[in-house]
Amino acid sequence: MARDPRYDILFEPVKIGPVVAPNRFYQVPHCNGGGYRDPSAVAEMRKVKSEGGWGVIFTEQVELHHSSEITPYIELHLWDDKDIPMLAKMADAMHEHRSLAGIELAYSGVNGPNLYSREVPRAPSALPIRTFTNDPVSARAMDKKDIRDLRRWHRNAFIRAKQAGYDLICLYGAHGFGVIQHFLSRATNQRTDEYGGSLQNRARLMRELIEEGKDAVGDTMAITLRLSLDELVGSVGFGNEEVRDLIEMHSELPDLWDLAHGAWEDCSGTSRFKEEGAQQSLVEGIKQLTTKPVVGVGRFTSPDVMVKQVRNGILDFIGCARPSIADPFLPKKIDEGRIEDIRECIGCNICVSGDMTMSLSRCTQNPTFMEEWRKGWHPEKIEKRGSDDNVLVVGAGPAGLEAARALGKRGYDVALAEALTEPGGRVARECLLPGLSAWGRVRDYRVYQLSQMANVQTYFDSKLSADDIMDFGFAHVAVATGANWRSDGVGRYHTMAIPSDGSVPVYSPDDIMNGTLIPGNVLVFDDDHYYMGGVIAEKLAEQGSQVTLLTPAAYVSDWSRNTLDQSFIHQRLVSAGVSPLLNRGLAEIKAGQYVSECVYTGSFLAHDIDGIVLVTSQIQNDSVWRGLESRQNEWSDAGIKSVRVIGDAEAPAPIAWATYAGHRYARLLDTDDIGDTLPFKREVAQLSS
Ligand code: ADP
Ligand code: SF4
Repeated sequence: MARDPRYDILFEPVKIGPVVAPNRFYQVPHCNGGGYRDPSAVAEMRKVKSEGGWGVIFTEQVELHHSSEITPYIELHLWDDKDIPMLAKMADAMHEHRSLAGIELAYSGVNGPNLYSREVPRAPSALPIRTFTNDPVSARAMDKKDIRDLRRWHRNAFIRAKQAGYDLICLYGAHGFGVIQHFLSRATNQRTDEYGGSLQNRARLMRELIEEGKDAVGDTMAITLRLSLDELVGSVGFGNEEVRDLIEMHSELPDLWDLAHGAWEDCSGTSRFKEEGAQQSLVEGIKQLTTKPVVGVGRFTSPDVMVKQVRNGILDFIGCARPSIADPFLPKKIDEGRIEDIRECIGCNICVSGDMTMSLSRCTQNPTFMEEWRKGWHPEKIEKRGSDDNVLVVGAGPAGLEAARALGKRGYDVALAEALTEPGGRVARECLLPGLSAWGRVRDYRVYQLSQMANVQTYFDSKLSADDIMDFGFAHVAVATGANWRSDGVGRYHTMAIPSDGSVPVYSPDDIMNGTLIPGNVLVFDDDHYYMGGVIAEKLAEQGSQVTLLTPAAYVSDWSRNTLDQSFIHQRLVSAGVSPLLNRGLAEIKAGQYVSECVYTGSFLAHDIDGIVLVTSQIQNDSVWRGLESRQNEWSDAGIKSVRVIGDAEAPAPIAWATYAGHRYARLLDTDDIGDTLPFKREVAQLSS
């Protein structure tokens, strides 16, 4: 199909200093949990984006000198010439389909604890290191020699970046992560010399670095600057007004202004807290201060919203990180008039959790993310079916929907049976919870794709038993029947049921999602630690209950620190009237009371309560699978070649695990059994002499 002319403007070439981007789709730097440990995986991931039509593609943060590094987080290094081949491989991958290749250079200053290099951190002023993990390390204030060194190290990095084949350099001064921001902000720059005090002085290092960058490599490379639109650290911080003053004072200095926001958690907010285009009011008007192109982000997935940003003179480039992860082919799909095929980011930040946990990132919507190299998975291409066998998928939750979609794309004849009258499984229920409506996109994308496939039939209102399935005689059966929340309190704090005398009614999250109201005082006991406890408390508070959220953890929705929204969850719960009770377990339920127990001292407290919701763990709904397993000796007579249990029915986990399981099932259905062979490629460090 042809491109809708309304979107032509997104495909105009735009000049950035000495280079020209082929269109306005700008993949801003983003981490991936792989970095220097998995460089080939990162390179292949970026190559797929080049194929998907992004005009500009950036690396993640690249540490330009060993005296400022952010261990334990795994990004990229450009510490000496030995790092050039790895970075060159990535630049080559980005160039594969005509994208411009960008490298984001960072000196982490007051954000670099140097746990690996053991160098003493250096920052504009002597302050404790500011990291997610509050490392007990301080930075010393840079003296003039340090600043001269820093400028030389940048120059060396510029030249190495050029040798590696990049077209653009982005100097990182955003999210509290880059030394340029530390100099610009009065919160972290308390110097009294010519690098401190007035904005002109605080901007001196930035000016020197950009000018020296242009001098070193500016004939062929663009030098861009990434800033936060507002540092959001109170009145002494680098706020939006000062950002505008700075840009006005240096309007033509960098080749492009790349505008992020606040700390990372403010910029990459989850959809529970941030709408698409949430930064518009902070960025509006900045383009009018400069003739240089401006890029901004906002989890843009809608081409109409993108066009508005350009037409209304707000942005020149549409900056995307997460939308490019969820759908690396987003530009190409717009170009080819296939808007309905866009796999929209749901704003869950599971991708971010890969970086925060130093594992390889995954994506709820795109199960191939970071599997492009190590498993050879492409987001848009999949092997043709290996046989004429038909497949029955039982359950239309995220695992079953993705299995059916990927199998259908392979050309298999698929029957998808769902007990309920609508698709989506847990996603259909959870997207009705406060703030989670965007999660419905997991279902919507797949349901639309299935509707386009004549070889996939979906049957609703079809609760199947093992006997039914034995009678049907499908060659392959995938059991994706999901899980249910437990209501006996088994979780991490109690590995057996919580003692209860039955005097207080007890509910599970499923009861609340099914519409149960609990008037009066309600306890939510969260021993799950991800989003569900917090969101159930929020829903109950919205319905007028007096809610206490009890958790053995030190934080509300503890694991959400990995998705960057823990602090927003706490804030929202408190403003909704929920009382958090931290560091206490639920010991027992008796005589109309719950008894909480301090996790440190073991001391007990009893409280009257009208109802309790136990958010502790889920249990597999695997009776169909077990029924089939017990009749394995009858399978071949029934024409069944294989039965697999996938997704939450195998072992409950976040939604991303379910879409991955469905996808993997479809990919591997007809592949040879590899036995004990490692099922993915990996990079093994070469021993040095
Ligand atoms: P997952 O996250 O693994 O996809 P879900 O719980 O989201 O799991 O989805 C499981 C789906 O399976 C639900 O929509 C549920 O109604 C459906 N289901 C459960 N048991 C059966 C069954 N016996 N026959 C058909 N569908 C079933
Ligand atoms: Fe978007 Fe979630 Fe995928 Fe990240 S993991 S790109 S937030 S859908």
